[in-house]
Amino acid sequence: MSIFGTIPVEPHRQNALDLCAPKFEAAVLATLRGMQNDGFDPYVYETLRSNERAKWLHGFGRLYDDDRGIVTNATDALTGWHGFGLAADIISESKQWDAPDSFWSALGAHAAANALAWGGFWKMKDKPHVQPSNLRDSPSNRARQLIAQGGLAAVWREVGADII
Ligand SMILES: [Zn+2]
Repeated sequence: MSIFGTIPVEPHRQNALDLCAPKFEAAVLATLRGMQNDGFDPYVYETLRSNERAKWLHGFGRLYDDDRGIVTNATDALTGWHGFGLAADIISESKQWDAPDSFWSALGAHAAANALAWGGFWKMKDKPHVQPSNLRDSPSNRARQLIAQGGLAAVWREVGADII
């Protein structure tokens, strides 16, 4: 018998790039173009994440499961850069998460060429994930303080992602 409960209804997923910091948006667009030029079909699956959705994702492998196990260590929207408009998840439009290794290594290479860090290099691998390479892996208390005081724009300014 499973120790897990029922998976709650999925909170809304946002994938518009214009919800992200302008400089980060431009870097992701350049990454997508690079992959398309290489013959791949990248698709932006998720960008800015609500707190409700972050908590729902954190429950996988902990409170409920769909055979994927744990999908994130971020306990809420502000413990990962998705909550700040500074992260995006890119998958294959046709093969989704089952894209071949060549797709993921192309994503890693084009991300690096556009000053993005790629989650495929992390200890807990997150192959679709990209974020600005000048950020630490996870947001600091200072970032959380800034967003509380000045919203997304204050954080974007601080990390130099507000202007292209
Ligand atoms: Zn991500």
